[in-house]
Amino acid sequence: MGSNPIPSAMKPERILPQRGFLFCKRSYNTKVSERHYMSYYHIWSIGCQMNKAYSEQLATDLERLGYRSTRAIEEADIVVINSCVVRQSAENRVLSKLNSLIPLKRLNPDTVVALAGCMVDPGIAELRRCFPHVDLFLKPGESSELLDLAGARAPDGVQDSTPLPPPPSAFVTIIEGCDNFCSYCIVPYRRGRERSRPLTEIRCQVESLVERGVKQVTLLGQNVDSYGHDLPDMPDLTDLLKELNSVEDLVRIRFLTSHPKDMNQKLIRAVASLDKVCESISLPAQAGDDEILRAMGRGYTAQNYHDLVERIRSIVPGVALSTDVIVGFPGETDVQFQRTLDLLSDIRFDTVYVAVYSPRPGTLALRKFEDDVPPLEKRRRLKKVEELECGIASEINAQLLGQTVEVLVEGDKKGRWWGRTRTGKLVFFNDDANRLGQLIEVEIEKTSPWALQGVFGHK
Ligand code: SAM
Ligand code: SF4
Repeated sequence: MGSNPIPSAMKPERILPQRGFLFCKRSYNTKVSERHYMSYYHIWSIGCQMNKAYSEQLATDLERLGYRSTRAIEEADIVVINSCVVRQSAENRVLSKLNSLIPLKRLNPDTVVALAGCMVDPGIAELRRCFPHVDLFLKPGESSELLDLAGARAPDGVQDSTPLPPPPSAFVTIIEGCDNFCSYCIVPYRRGRERSRPLTEIRCQVESLVERGVKQVTLLGQNVDSYGHDLPDMPDLTDLLKELNSVEDLVRIRFLTSHPKDMNQKLIRAVASLDKVCESISLPAQAGDDEILRAMGRGYTAQNYHDLVERIRSIVPGVALSTDVIVGFPGETDVQFQRTLDLLSDIRFDTVYVAVYSPRPGTLALRKFEDDVPPLEKRRRLKKVEELECGIASEINAQLLGQTVEVLVEGDKKGRWWGRTRTGKLVFFNDDANRLGQLIEVEIEKTSPWALQGVFGHK
C-alpha cells in the first residue's frame, strides 16, 4: 500500500528495473541498428500489491533474459499491460491504455504486446476478438508463455545475464486467489480459489532474496491470514512467520491483507513476539453498519471488528492499523454511512483506503442489489471519509514529532532518502552517504498526514 492514508484513485505505475539496473536511453531512430545487442521491455501496471509483486518478478525475469527496461513504450520489444478490474475506473484506464497501443502495434508488428492481470478472465476468446493487437493473454500470476517467447527472441550473447541486486524490500506472494466471495468483489472470479505456496518453497525464495541483499519481505495474499489451509500439513500464517523469523540477515517481515474473520489470537501473539515481524496490520473493515456488512458478505459485525481491534491493541501495543472502506454500497443510507464514520473515529486508523462502490460483472451485489446511491452522493461520502482520516492521521503522526524512529532505507526520491518505520510510516531525510538498505535512526522534525521528515542519525 502507498504512503497516502487516503488514496482515492489507483495510480498506474510503470515498473522500473530494480535499483542499480542500468537505464539505457536510445532514440527511436537507432532502434534497428541496436536491436542485435539490446532488447527492451516496458511494463505498465495498475492495481493491488499482488499486481505490483507480479510486475516486479516479471521485470526481474526479463532482465535475467537480457532485456532492459525502457521508459519509452514505442521503443519496447515487449509491452506488458498488467491490469486491474476491481473497480470500473481502473478497468477504464486499462482499456484506454490498451487502445493507445493500436497505432504502436501497427507501426511495429514485431513488438510483443501482452495483457496480464485480472482483466484476463476465462473468456479469452472474447478478449482476442476485442483486442486483436494483443499477442498474449496471461491469467493472473502466469508468465511462462511470455518468458518462453522472450527467451526465444532474447538478444544473442545476453541470455541468462545476471540481474543486478534487488531493492532492500521485496514482495513475496504466499497465497493466490480468494474463497470469500464478498458480494461486491470480482477478485474470486478472476483470481480463482485460494492456493497456498508450500512453506519450504517460500522459505527458499526468501533466503535467496536475502542472499541478494533484501532486508524486508512483505508476504502477500488477498486473504493472507487464511494461508495454508489447503496444504497437506496445514501450516498457518503464524507457522510461516516463525519459519521466516529465523532467516539470518532478514531484518523485517510484513504481511497483507488480513481478513478480520481469519485473524486469530495465535497470529496476533506472533506479531507481538517475533522480533522481525513489524507492528503493522492491514485489516479491511469495509463498513461500520451491520446490515451493510451482512449484504457485503463479510462474516463479522461492527462489534466483532471493534473487539478484534481491542484484542490486537492490547497484545501489540503501538501497532499501526490500516483499513479499506467502501462508500455508497447499494442501499447505504445516511445513517448507515454515519456508522462507518463512527467506526473510523472510534478506532482511529493510521491509514484508510477509501473507494466508492463500483458494480462489477458476475458479482452477487450486481445481480441482487440496485446501485442506488447517486454518484454525487458517493463522491460526497468519499470526501467525508478523506477529511475525517486526514485529521486523524495528522494527529497520530504529530505524536512522533521530536521522537527518534528506526527506519529501513528503501530508496531515494528527488535527492532525498526515504524509508519506513516498523509501523509503516514513510520517512524522508537527507544524507550524502549511501544509506540504501541500512537500518538507521531518524529524529522527526516535521509531520503531515502522509509522511514524516527528519534528520539522520540523531538520538
Ligand atoms: N481481500 C481484502 C479484503 O478483505 O477486503 C481486499 C482486497 S480487494 C481486491 C481491495 C479493495 O478493493 C477492497 O478492500 C475494497 O475496499 C475494494 N473493492 C473491491 N471491490 C470493490 C467494488 N466493487 N467497488 C469498490 N471497491 C471495491
Ligand atoms: Fe475480494 Fe472479499 Fe476476497 Fe477481499 S476477501 S479479495 S474483498 S472477495
